Amino acid sequence: MDFDLSDEHELLRRTVREFAERRIAPVAEELDHEHRFPYDIVAELAELGLMGIPIPEEYGGGGGDTLSYAIAIEELTRIDSSVAITVAAHTSLGTMPILLFGTEEQKREWLPDLASGRRLAAFGLTEPGAGSDAGATRTRAELTDGQWVVNGSKIFITNAGTDLSACVTITARTGEGEISNLIVPNGTPGYEISAPMRKMGWRASDTRELSFRDCAVPEDNLLGERGAGFRQFLEILDGGRISIASMGLGLAQGAYDLALAYAKEREQFGQPIARFQAIQFQLADMAVEIEAGRNLVYKAAWLKDQERPFAQEAAMAKLYTGELSQRVVDRALQIHGGYGYMDEYAISRLYRDQKVLEIGEGTNEVQRMVIARHLGL
Ligand SMILES: Cc1cc2nc3c(=O)[nH]c(=O)nc-3n(C[C@H](O)[C@H](O)[C@H](O)COP(=O)(O)OP(=O)(O)OC[C@H]3O[C@@H](n4cnc5c(N)ncnc54)[C@H](O)[C@@H]3O)c2cc1C
Repeated sequence: MDFDLSDEHELLRRTVREFAERRIAPVAEELDHEHRFPYDIVAELAELGLMGIPIPEEYGGGGGDTLSYAIAIEELTRIDSSVAITVAAHTSLGTMPILLFGTEEQKREWLPDLASGRRLAAFGLTEPGAGSDAGATRTRAELTDGQWVVNGSKIFITNAGTDLSACVTITARTGEGEISNLIVPNGTPGYEISAPMRKMGWRASDTRELSFRDCAVPEDNLLGERGAGFRQFLEILDGGRISIASMGLGLAQGAYDLALAYAKEREQFGQPIARFQAIQFQLADMAVEIEAGRNLVYKAAWLKDQERPFAQEAAMAKLYTGELSQRVVDRALQIHGGYGYMDEYAISRLYRDQKVLEIGEGTNEVQRMVIARHLGL
């Protein structure tokens, strides 16, 4: 076994960490406060080649492995979740379906703009009546005169409504008991996007409700085989879970780093609070859990890179880091005392940003269902 990261992985970590600390940290609070999408930062991430890390170079991506992608998402989330989810949703949910299931023509049409970060993509699975039970989708698409005519709605969709958004891949019912994926370009008549939804966290990320009213797209916008939509979205979610697990890991690391620094600096009873064993034990527990979480996340990514089955490990990593980030951010804020409750302390933003990690791309309960299924239950 070799637990050392390669030089390339270490270099990537340093590059992303440096960028996140220099460029994102100083503006994160303001972006969050103003619910402002980070266009400038996305442009710079694109320049650094971080908007399409695991997409092959022939389509304009970075040609990196899943582990590189996981490390980048971890490092971005350590500083700011809104930026991290923008990259993660764009890559794993927006771009990946086209790479995995698209025809060569679809890949040539969409991937160069997406993988380079010039445009963004979204994945529209969730509906008001179909959340955890995503197969219960009610959005319909009917093939009429060479076009798919879509009617229905989606909710909580990331990256669908920015000025850079190019398209959304949606699941739709294309027949009795048949779900297919369709690419719907932004600007298609009948495709309407709500104002940004107001959220507890991830406030600088773009989250929308989508509605489709007799929205017609060419027959060729079908992604993969007709009727393969259910299997396809399960595969997309398996991969996406590694990125959300990386976010749980990165958020926990960020919260721990803030708490450690604060504990060394803050004095009460005549000494830094880090000298109190009660505080030391909390930091020690956090460090243990973060190490365990990192091993789970990297192993899931490594399995995927080895082209071995990884779905169970991805669900385990997502579940574990979701819950671990909750425990860590809670203790980290406690160590900050009243200051941690104030907006100008980053820990308060991390605290609000954490909760959705236990909900998005499958709730904790759904992860347990997936794991139980893999256990043969
Ligand atoms: C900020 C944000 C961004 C998102 N981005 C996207 C996106 O880009 N694309 C997209 O498609 N979706 C997106 N989502 C949707 C997200 O994936 C769903 O919210 C999530 O899958 C849960 O669905 P739901 O909200 O309908 O909850 P529900 O499914 O209604 O669940 C409610 C509760 O019931 C529990 N539950 C449900 N079924 C069971 C069961 N069988 N056993 C035990 N407990 C159960 C759940 O675990 C949960 O606790 C986003 C959500 C948020 C909040």
